[in-house]
Amino acid sequence: MIRSPFALYIHVPFCSRKCPYCDFNTYATLKVPEEEYLQALLADLRAYARDNRFEGRTISSIFWGGGTPSLLSPATLNAVHAEARTLFGVEVGAEVTLEANPADPSKEKYALTKAAGVNRVSFGVQSFDAKRLELLGRDHSPQNARDAVRLCVEAGIENVSVDLIFGVTDQTIEDLEGDLAAAAALPVTHISTYALTIEPGTPFFQRQERGLLSMPSDGLVAEMLDRIPEVLASQGFSRYEISNYARVGLVSRHNEAYWIGRDYLGIGAGAHSYVASYSGDRRVGGSRWSTLALPASYMKAAGTPSAVSWREELSRESLMFEFFYLGLRRMVGVSLNEFEKLFGDSAASPYRAVLRELSDEGFLRVENDWIQLTSAGIALADSVYERFVIEGGESVSSTR
Ligand code: SF4
Repeated sequence: MIRSPFALYIHVPFCSRKCPYCDFNTYATLKVPEEEYLQALLADLRAYARDNRFEGRTISSIFWGGGTPSLLSPATLNAVHAEARTLFGVEVGAEVTLEANPADPSKEKYALTKAAGVNRVSFGVQSFDAKRLELLGRDHSPQNARDAVRLCVEAGIENVSVDLIFGVTDQTIEDLEGDLAAAAALPVTHISTYALTIEPGTPFFQRQERGLLSMPSDGLVAEMLDRIPEVLASQGFSRYEISNYARVGLVSRHNEAYWIGRDYLGIGAGAHSYVASYSGDRRVGGSRWSTLALPASYMKAAGTPSAVSWREELSRESLMFEFFYLGLRRMVGVSLNEFEKLFGDSAASPYRAVLRELSDEGFLRVENDWIQLTSAGIALADSVYERFVIEGGESVSSTR
């Protein structure tokens, strides 16, 4: 096993209300069981500090995701950070991100959040159009979002990201451009853009089934996908991953850890973890597991083996597939040298045919040692990955 640093993900499955498009593991909660949840997180951290997969390794980044982790008090964030430092050590200058709802912006709370060790905030803004926010069931206004970013920066957290959703009912290209311009006009360092997807089991899914929710055509969504990088590039944001844009040097280091296949530990209800296994310095397999999704069950079992709800063992071939599947999300692409270093096999070997076909068809570009998606490949990324699945013989799995 390689004793390199790992990324720590902390899931907080509580929201003030459930947005009608959301299928994340979150629950509308009037009162967050904060003390009980804190004790569960600490119990899990202590258990993993005695686990030889993580024992003696330092943390490279921390990400509080959800859910709405900003519902927790800065004191709770601080208590988890302090325990993580004591048990594992956190690298100097490590990125520590908190996902936050812009509904109740407060400079004082952002200052306390900074004092608790958070140095990056990601706001779930979604849109700067009041009607679209209402349709999405959001509990904040466009002005709340503007105030939240400004106050956060004034409080000293200058690395701020905003999430936007596009492809929403009746949205036009001009509406999208308005959202992008509004986001870029704020003092933010990073913008993530996600196409609205209608997930089974959500109120949006039911509305769509009953014909009560219209969605933009695939053609219009594809046009939006093309327009986003153009507009954001003109505002100084470079696309570094399919859905993510950043000012120079301010990419999300935690998310990069997922895309490059670094080990990560997930604590909190429904959080996923992943650890690769090695023979010498060659990656030969790994495992992935998740904690119990229901907060009450997780809080009861945290710190014990019963907190794990499922586990899967990953073959060397699965990891080779994921190397491409995840790595090609990054605009820089994947390095063939790195592949060979990790797996001791030329990338041309298991994927020789599919790489050549996709390159001939204009979906991939091979430059020196690197393979990247072309713009045609980005537009049809899911189909490109399917070709790896079918021709490489592996199955797709998620990192979250
Ligand atoms: S705030 Fe985010 S996590 Fe919570 S329900 Fe809405 S979309 Fe889901």
